[in-house]
Amino acid sequence: MKRKRLLAGNWKMNLTGKEAAALASQIATGAANLQRTEVWVAPTFTSLAPVAQALQHSQVSWGAQNAHWEPCGAFTGETSVPMLKELGCSFSLAGHSERRHIFGETDELVAQRVFGILKGGLTVVLCVGETLKERESGQTNAVLERQLRAVLDKIEPEQVKQVIIAYEPVWAIGTGKVATTKEIEAAHACIHSFWNSKLPDTCPPILYGGSVAPDNFAEIVQVPLVGGALVGGASLTFEKFKKLIAISEEVTVLVRN
Ligand code: PEP
Repeated sequence: MKRKRLLAGNWKMNLTGKEAAALASQIATGAANLQRTEVWVAPTFTSLAPVAQALQHSQVSWGAQNAHWEPCGAFTGETSVPMLKELGCSFSLAGHSERRHIFGETDELVAQRVFGILKGGLTVVLCVGETLKERESGQTNAVLERQLRAVLDKIEPEQVKQVIIAYEPVWAIGTGKVATTKEIEAAHACIHSFWNSKLPDTCPPILYGGSVAPDNFAEIVQVPLVGGALVGGASLTFEKFKKLIAISEEVTVLVRN
């Protein structure tokens, strides 16, 4: 399938509402009339309303960094899908490595979030990726398959179109250490073939994430099966994010899945 490349900014726990809205307004202007690129941003929960206002007439979509699977209830500190939809969110991340490794979210808990997000009608960006220790001990593929299996075992075929996968090696996130194009290609191929072995010909777009920056992005977007990028640090400054958008627009390689 031919589709636009997706560039998604994960702002993590950065920017106040005012700062986030200012950055969103710049991105809205920078992302007008794109031919090959779709731009999404994921601000903090408290910035969603001002960002929604800044992006309401733009081509940029906004979403959350996490979501709970229940619509409401006694879940202190959590936010539900109906609450996100009220703010115009079209997607939520799930299973970001910081959630898995700092906050101890298991594959099963991440899968619960994924199904809550899907059931609520949003797109989910399911993040998967291995730690350095797992890579060095040759477990990369097994880890990716285990993380995917938690979702794949229960997903209904009609829900697949609401899924985007982000391959994010934990050791490359926020470290300035980018995976090599060979490592990215191998991991994307593993995800693609494992998914298709369970649900033939349905593998969703796969983004790469991990220290993506203007000086490495042109090479990364040309790697087979890379459908775009999930970008942390470089999405927080307009100058850098604008360069990533420009690179995506310039690279003519077709995104196929
Ligand atoms: C991320 O937060 O998903 C990410 C990839 O961060 P960074 O681009 O800063 O490595």
